[in-house]
Amino acid sequence: MPSSVRRLTMAVITNSLSLKHTLSLGCPQTKFLTRRPSSTSISFRRCYASYANENREYVIVGGGNAAGYAARTFVEHGVADGRLCIVTKEGVAPYERPALTKAYLFPPEKKPARLPGFHTCVGSGGERQTPEWYKEKGIEMLYEDPVENIDIEKQTLTTSSGKLLKYGSLIIATGCTSSRFPDKIGGNLSGVHYIRDVADADSLVSSLEKAKKVVVVGGGYIGMEIAAAAVAWKLDTT
Ligand SMILES: Cc1cc2nc3c(=O)[nH]c(=O)nc-3n(C[C@H](O)[C@H](O)[C@H](O)COP(=O)(O)OP(=O)(O)OC[C@H]3O[C@@H](n4cnc5c(N)ncnc54)[C@H](O)[C@@H]3O)c2cc1C
Repeated sequence: MPSSVRRLTMAVITNSLSLKHTLSLGCPQTKFLTRRPSSTSISFRRCYASYANENREYVIVGGGNAAGYAARTFVEHGVADGRLCIVTKEGVAPYERPALTKAYLFPPEKKPARLPGFHTCVGSGGERQTPEWYKEKGIEMLYEDPVENIDIEKQTLTTSSGKLLKYGSLIIATGCTSSRFPDKIGGNLSGVHYIRDVADADSLVSSLEKAKKVVVVGGGYIGMEIAAAAVAWKLDTT
């Protein structure tokens, strides 16, 4: 994972999760994949097989690109089947987020991209990891169930639906969020869009279908891609 992505991920850890004890994760994926199994992980493996209890050997929090590519690495190392659980806020399996401001926003005549067409890891020419792929590989997916609390000492986490999971090793891959305008200056008005996930992109597409004029705030590559999409929809764009 590039260091810039890692930095963003770490920033979100401190902002979005209430941690009872300090976490210090450098590059957790590579660290624990090369580590020799501890006695804790062996005992987790023994009691884990059918998810019949709260014990999970490896847990990834977050269901973005990092989680999807990490899952592929777990499979390559033969440590996924019956041992890995991904807990995500989103309702879909990891996908190539960059597509959201590219082919996803194409006007109808240009055949826009839709899931399951761009699940991770197609962006790197890898296998398309659909929800079925995770099932086949024995990876447990908990969708639409954000982690709300982690207790590092007890090695447990709780989700918004009230699930309590005990983990052997934990990867936090919660990514980042868009910076939003405050509500008092109109940041929550209808017609104001942010783009980070599929739900945001769907909402933007439904506005593009009706819009006459589009104003893009932010001139980075995401802003420029949205401006290009709006032009493709033949909309007056600033
Ligand atoms: C529209 C857009 C276009 C982009 N285009 C490009 C590009 O062209 N090239 C490029 O290199 N990069 C691009 N990026 C950036 C790239 O997508 C990110 O670097 C990448 O998504 C980071 O992956 P990640 O898995 O670390 O985080 P994310 O993709 O942000 O995934 C984090 C996941 O964690 C989930 N989550 C958050 N909190 C919790 C919680 N408490 N419990 C459970 N789940 C949680 C989120 O819902 C999300 O599913 C783009 C980003 C966006 C938004």
